[in-house]
Amino acid sequence: MSACRLSLPVGSEKTNGFLEPPETLHVSRGRKNCMKTKIMTVDLENDLRSNRCKSIEIIVPKLLDFFDDQKIKSTFFVVTSLLEKYETEIKEIAKKHEIASHSHTHAWLNNKNVEFEISESKRKMKEFGIKCQGFRAPGFITTKNHFSLLKKNGYSYDSSLATYYPGRYNNLSLPNKPFLKEGIVTFPMANFVYPVISSGLPYLKLLDPISKLFPQKNIFYLHPWELLEKKDLPVANSIIKSFLRRNSGKNAWKIFVKHINKEESKWIGCQDWITQYF
Ligand SMILES: [Zn+2]
Repeated sequence: MSACRLSLPVGSEKTNGFLEPPETLHVSRGRKNCMKTKIMTVDLENDLRSNRCKSIEIIVPKLLDFFDDQKIKSTFFVVTSLLEKYETEIKEIAKKHEIASHSHTHAWLNNKNVEFEISESKRKMKEFGIKCQGFRAPGFITTKNHFSLLKKNGYSYDSSLATYYPGRYNNLSLPNKPFLKEGIVTFPMANFVYPVISSGLPYLKLLDPISKLFPQKNIFYLHPWELLEKKDLPVANSIIKSFLRRNSGKNAWKIFVKHINKEESKWIGCQDWITQYF
């Protein structure tokens, strides 16, 4: 197998938040004939459910460089309240990747706020001149009228249904592959159910090193804040947040790069996947 060397990420402590010089990581590029097409997604939101977003300045430029280097195309599900402050950064992402909605404020959806979060997010995208077809609910928590509201507000696909999370959602009969629900193309996510526990970086980080042995779904997700060093992350004020801080920063980069290496896939965004395969 051939391999190339990839330095990731590059920069000084001052600008990138890393305490030590970055290590050189290996990304293999062999066995091209085994490549499958998978879907890469990024949830762009405040850092670890705080009111700040250091990751958009510190991590997103490095992530975009990494995606360029690896020829990865992604869908970025963006919390649209970030557009006011980070219009330039988000429009930079949009030059090469798809932008979709991750709600307006990242509040967990409920019967009271769902209509506002879905419609306001779409309205903000339009106000800022961004085409937005897809939606992903914060925390993968949805309401009964989720799909009818998406349709009413002009979305064509969704990636909010996940298999199981104790006390949060339970969709054990979710199909494995994208399917049509109430006229909306639905990309199912898997988490917390073996053998597809880890369809995202949060699970790969939390359960490393055994998580690398689990089979993966055809859709992956990560948050830029997971790649921040612990010193740049908000302090954990709950058990879940302390779990989410596990293996942050350089460890997260290593786990992510190894995952990309292992998958040997062609990565595209949701809308491109629909155009090519649905
Ligand atoms: Zn989120």
